[in-house]
Amino acid sequence: MTEPSRLTEPAPLIELAEDATEVQAFEAADAWLRANLPGDVLKAALDADWDAVGAFLDDPQRGPAWYAALGDAGLSTPTWPRECGGLGLSARAAGAVADAVLRYRVDRGMIDFVGLALAGPTIIFHGTPRQRERYLRPLARGEHRWCQLFSEPGAGSDLAGLSTRAERQDDGTWVVNGQKVWSSFAHIADYGLLMARTDPALPKHRGIGYFLLDMRTPGVDARPLKQMTGDAEFNEVFLTDVRLPADALLGEVNGGWTVAITTLMQERNGLTGLPAVGEGRADVLLRRARDNGTLAEPVLRDDLLRFLVEERVLQMTTVRAHAESGRKAAGAEGSIRKLVNARLEEKAGALAAEVEPLAALAWEQGRQNSAASYEFLVMKQASIAGGTPEIQRNIIAERVLGLPKDPDPDKNVPFNERQRG
Ligand SMILES: Cc1cc2nc3c(=O)[nH]c(=O)nc-3n(C[C@H](O)[C@H](O)[C@H](O)COP(=O)(O)OP(=O)(O)OC[C@H]3O[C@@H](n4cnc5c(N)ncnc54)[C@H](O)[C@@H]3O)c2cc1C
Repeated sequence: MTEPSRLTEPAPLIELAEDATEVQAFEAADAWLRANLPGDVLKAALDADWDAVGAFLDDPQRGPAWYAALGDAGLSTPTWPRECGGLGLSARAAGAVADAVLRYRVDRGMIDFVGLALAGPTIIFHGTPRQRERYLRPLARGEHRWCQLFSEPGAGSDLAGLSTRAERQDDGTWVVNGQKVWSSFAHIADYGLLMARTDPALPKHRGIGYFLLDMRTPGVDARPLKQMTGDAEFNEVFLTDVRLPADALLGEVNGGWTVAITTLMQERNGLTGLPAVGEGRADVLLRRARDNGTLAEPVLRDDLLRFLVEERVLQMTTVRAHAESGRKAAGAEGSIRKLVNARLEEKAGALAAEVEPLAALAWEQGRQNSAASYEFLVMKQASIAGGTPEIQRNIIAERVLGLPKDPDPDKNVPFNERQRG
């Protein structure tokens, strides 16, 4: 195979009609992967040597070249329109592409979730032709990493209560001041999705702007926060007199909430994984339990098998939800899967400790922690990220079931006259 090496000249998209069936999409993607994966990596994947595949993706030369080739072929972004570097496929056919890529485990990792799942679709829906042209192709090729600058110390679940300020200057540029928090991977991101208050005299949802921020702009200071796992992928981001050009605004002035809804719905839909059915958390836990003998314990075995079934059901529901949405934007129903996923993630953490009880308590000197302790410690993350279970329940109640809204006395009050701090 010729190793993909050019990062500037895009290779052609794979040949696949926009109305391709699932079988056609799977076969085309699988054939492309077999023809373009380097021989050693293809062999490693077929032998299920996932460490070797992981080493390939982590290689500073080969990994980026591979992601660029995957992006050029349209396989990183199969639902995006063709003019934006995607294949224009239906969600159903795109799910088959995801299945093919998952088979070899050579897709982009969670670190690119904000870029591919949030920034891309939001820019496709709300961006000007120039913004689409500028941001989408590098994103699909893995050249730019994105972060999400929404949450603040005083605005998480009540995101519309954010107080980072963007002030419009006479020349149309903006000056931003404020602080964000929990910004995953902001310290290594090239761009950020930034929400900031553009008019405090309007009610809280109406006076917000949505900006595309170049993280290298002077005044942007991302400081990693150390977590109890030892990781530090979260950040506080301080914004001090950050000057943004007029075309950094995505959507209308004061219309940022509408844009943010697109991002948030994508997030709730995307956080339950790709629309593909295959190896998941349960398979890994079952393997570990088989290897160390804990699978022989009947209660634990029962719990693991129940978990396997629930995880597969969630995967299949994700496939169905994507298929049913066609090419439409994600809807509020995504909150149902987000809620189920939160419960499963917590269960996976608890099961990891039960499968390897000793490893959950102690590990070799010099190692940060064991897999079991790590998984136990991160089990709450996925339930909070992208909105807590309580907030998902509110969304399901209001937007799916049509029940009365959560009372919010500040909703129609100008932001700078509201009662709450
Ligand atoms: C792993 C991870 C990654 C994250 N990444 C990012 C990121 O990249 N960018 C970003 O901007 N943010 C990120 N976040 C932040 C995340 O969006 C917020 O933590 C989340 O929205 C909750 O906000 P909060 O932490 O301020 O909690 P709060 O809003 O203060 O909530 C505290 C508690 O009150 C409950 N509560 C609040 N309001 C209500 C209500 N109306 N009804 C019932 N209960 C309620 C909540 O459910 C929760 O239990 C991340 C969080 C995690 C855990």
